[in-house]
Amino acid sequence: NGADIAYIVFTSGSTGTPKGVQVTGMNVMALLTNMKQVFRLSPGFKASQTFDLSFDLSISDMFFTWSNGGTLCVLPELELSCPAEYIVREKIDFWHSVPTLVEFLKKLGYLRPGMYESLKYSVFCGEPLHQKTADAWMLAAPNGTVENYYGPTETTVFVSRYVYKKTESTRKFHNNIVPIGKPLTDHQMVLIDEENKVAGEKEVGEIAISGSQVSKGYLNDAEKTKSVFVYMPWDSSDSIWYKTGDMAKYNDSGDMEYISRKDNQIKIAGRRIEIGEIESILKGKIKGEDAVVVPYRNEYGIVTSLVAFVTIK
Ligand code: AMP
Repeated sequence: NGADIAYIVFTSGSTGTPKGVQVTGMNVMALLTNMKQVFRLSPGFKASQTFDLSFDLSISDMFFTWSNGGTLCVLPELELSCPAEYIVREKIDFWHSVPTLVEFLKKLGYLRPGMYESLKYSVFCGEPLHQKTADAWMLAAPNGTVENYYGPTETTVFVSRYVYKKTESTRKFHNNIVPIGKPLTDHQMVLIDEENKVAGEKEVGEIAISGSQVSKGYLNDAEKTKSVFVYMPWDSSDSIWYKTGDMAKYNDSGDMEYISRKDNQIKIAGRRIEIGEIESILKGKIKGEDAVVVPYRNEYGIVTSLVAFVTIK
């Protein structure tokens, strides 16, 4: 039955307890239908698997590849931090990773023009994609597209897409971050204000998402589910909207540009972390004293490490 749960992914929770996102078979089928519409690959294609099974991005790679006659190429752990040789050796067609992996390659000197000729699609997701990263990758993989995908686990892997163009290296985007674009088929993304009203056209607002990939909510947590999976007063249909906590705005082309988080959630190499969860664990360990965790960001505003301050008697 498609309405049954296909998998549950646990994500970091601000109070110290992880949230179990329940994704149904129908949610996954909707994702696969959308991916099939976007990626034109013939059976026999080779797709990368850079994500481990605790990361929901692994779902798209496995099931999209297997349901379309492709070969899933699971990167050995040793090559994961520097996959340059692997991409060339295995003649990968479809690449999917967090942008941080590209940063590793760049630092190690493995992002030279024309290096990755086999790539037809390069798909980045999970954290902001910097324009410089996209430009460098585009030169390294000249025969394919560079695409930025956005979406929380609660909406099944990803729900929006932006295809970055060769001519856009000098285009001004917010914080030089590649836009997250427009929703995939059968989805709506709307920017809302604090009162769940639709934000003004030029205003920054929180992204709310409805559509067939929106999950059932959190396992055994009706209260948390009710607070972010909501009906909207302005929507007369019975759609449920997931309030993402991501702030964005529209640009002149009608694409959404990611601005920031509304809360203290951060990403490290695409991993979702609620700072409150670490603070609460630290407080537990040091028995009642205070703990504050601060993200350390690189020149692109991307979190590379965390610094913890604790008070001890
Ligand atoms: P997760 O549930 O682990 O997939 O994390 C989802 C969160 O990652 C989103 O709510 C965003 O904050 C962030 N995110 C995912 N994709 C992108 C992207 N392309 N650009 C910016 N942030 C992203």
